[in-house]
Amino acid sequence: MKTRVTELLGIEFPIIQAGMIWCSGWELASAVSNAGGLGLIGSGSMYPDILRIHIQKCKKATSKPFGVNVPLLYPDIDKHMQIIVEEKVPIVFTSAGNPKTWTPYLKEHGIKVVHVVSAVKFALKCVEAGVDAVVAEGFEAGGHNGREETTTMVLIPAVRDAISIPLIAAGGIANGRQMAAAFALGAEAVQVGSRFVASLESSAHPAFKETVVKAKEGDTQLTLKQLTPVRLIKNKFFKEVDEMEKRGASVEELAAHLGRGRAKKGMFEGDLDEGELEIGQVSGLINDILPAAEIVKNIMREFYDTLEKMKNFSKTIP
Ligand code: NDP
Ligand code: NDP
Repeated sequence: MKTRVTELLGIEFPIIQAGMIWCSGWELASAVSNAGGLGLIGSGSMYPDILRIHIQKCKKATSKPFGVNVPLLYPDIDKHMQIIVEEKVPIVFTSAGNPKTWTPYLKEHGIKVVHVVSAVKFALKCVEAGVDAVVAEGFEAGGHNGREETTTMVLIPAVRDAISIPLIAAGGIANGRQMAAAFALGAEAVQVGSRFVASLESSAHPAFKETVVKAKEGDTQLTLKQLTPVRLIKNKFFKEVDEMEKRGASVEELAAHLGRGRAKKGMFEGDLDEGELEIGQVSGLINDILPAAEIVKNIMREFYDTLEKMKNFSKTIP
């Protein structure tokens, strides 16, 4: 299938696997790329030497294009960018920061740059910065999230009307019906996170994968808005933070309670009570752990089935 995004990235299907901290190592990224989508290594949880290992393993595991997601608030970002250039990674997705900072450097080195935004105003900044494509991610998404709570249903058409460069929709997309809806709204590809957490190849702890599979509608919520807004499963840690916020705890108190490494504890080490469990609303629709290639295939099949069904509506224009 051809869209401007598949042409830009050199991939077969317009499905991008999100670069999720602790869940997207080389094994998942290469499996998705081998299946015809775009796999991304989530570098936010990797020390520089670990990132280099993952890139090198990914290059060995696939001859197809793959990329690295770099959250721009990462502490050792200069080292990450240097490794990405040295290892000749073809595609970088940046997020959580200003796209002006790194886009020129990456483009000078022939790297395709895509930036993730949660609002039209940030999408416009991406165009100014010269990125190749934009991911617009709605409120449904897991992990880091926009403060304004704009849903994918509203965000995608708004961004589509505001910019003309290639657009990728994210937030609440795990199946082909949702992909078809995103295309109807103006997207040319989708970025899928939560569905790939519950894959065989994801580096998430097995206990976290099971939690994702068991999650029902309403089991996640956006929290920590005073620090960094993040959508989490409502576990013991979430409830503690929620109570603190309700009694008016200060930013300092919240930061002290959060401490360091909560995401690793929850998602990588499987501490379901004390850890941060970052996942999207769509976890309520995910009921199995599948190989990444099967996930790509299922999404594409259901996407085409949905387009076929839509043809059956008779045209009655008022
Ligand atoms: P290894 O099993 O040799 O692990 C390589 C190292 O990567 C290991 O130290 C592993 O930590 C760590 N690791 C694996 N997945 C992640 C991850 N998602 N985030 C951070 N560290 C991770 O080979 P692998 O090919 O499985 O992984 C190589 C290394 O990459 C491992 O150290 C692994 O922990 C690390 N890794 C890091 C990931 C991350 O997001 N930061 C994701 C996946 C692997 P450990 O030894 O504790 O398993
Ligand atoms: P914390 O400050 O709580 O902890 C830092 C974590 O990152 C630790 O677990 C640490 O591993 C690991 N880490 C990897 N590289 C470094 C480094 N160079 N210096 C310090 N720590 C490092 O942060 P979070 O766990 O909340 O977030 C970690 C990163 O992930 C941040 O860069 C954040 O911006 C990004 N992030 C990205 C998200 C996304 O969806 N892309 C979502 C949430 C966060 P160890 O415990 O082994 O020392």
